[in-house]
Amino acid sequence: MDIPRIFNITESAHRIHNPITPEKLATLGAALRLEAGTRVLDLGSGSGEMLCTWARDHDIFGTGVDMSQLFSEQAKLRAVELGVADRVTFIHGDAAGYVSDEKVGVAACVGATWIGGGVAGTVELLAQSLCAGGIILIGEPYWRQLPPTEEVAKGCHANAISDFLMLPELLASFGHLGYDVVEMVLADQDGWDRYEAAKWLTMRRWLEANPDDELVTEVRAQLTSEPERYAAYTREYLGWGVFALMPRG
Ligand code: SAH
Repeated sequence: MDIPRIFNITESAHRIHNPITPEKLATLGAALRLEAGTRVLDLGSGSGEMLCTWARDHDIFGTGVDMSQLFSEQAKLRAVELGVADRVTFIHGDAAGYVSDEKVGVAACVGATWIGGGVAGTVELLAQSLCAGGIILIGEPYWRQLPPTEEVAKGCHANAISDFLMLPELLASFGHLGYDVVEMVLADQDGWDRYEAAKWLTMRRWLEANPDDELVTEVRAQLTSEPERYAAYTREYLGWGVFALMPRG
């Protein structure tokens, strides 16, 4: 079981597979006022940077589930590197339908809401693992500027304009699901650069190291077109944030 191999190639050097930076991840951890010993569940935990750094900085206990074998391995190595291997567990597997045995104080899905079939389904899934008074974290894109055409939305790698909302509407949508938005940390364009531009050097080096791989043509095409596509579309039109939610009583 694994995610499509192209992501394991282009994001192999990423510690964070989203436009949030290490600084903003730290800001988020502080903003949540995490108490030592809090259990945190992370569906689509990637290379584990959020759980590992929060275990180091806030003494939380973490469980991450991720479908990428490579990212899950990297997460375990990162835990050892940061000296938190006894506080965090990374499970390689499909997080769809995953509910923790013990309830958690924070239940997160940061940039992988397809796991629950969209934002609403993922909030519902995470709520099943949440203790009373707990916080749900959702990382999700929104439109910084509304694309003027469907072509522009596709240029952002969305299927349609309707895939995402503007920020006020996204915040309102959490209310419609019955949740208060109690915090948020938003990415910016520099953060997008760290996520997207970091793929380019990785692709270039991968091409040099793997000239006979079956994905050479695809990676070559991406490296050629991505900088311009990214600057014209994603960087201009797409916002991204992590939203902290608590159920309304
Ligand atoms: N939250 C992490 C990773 C976000 S990228 C971070 O911010 O760094 C999206 C992640 O979802 C990838 O790591 C990918 O491997 C994982 N993923 C995709 N489908 C999944 C599934 N069905 N179950 C678990 N993880 C999945």
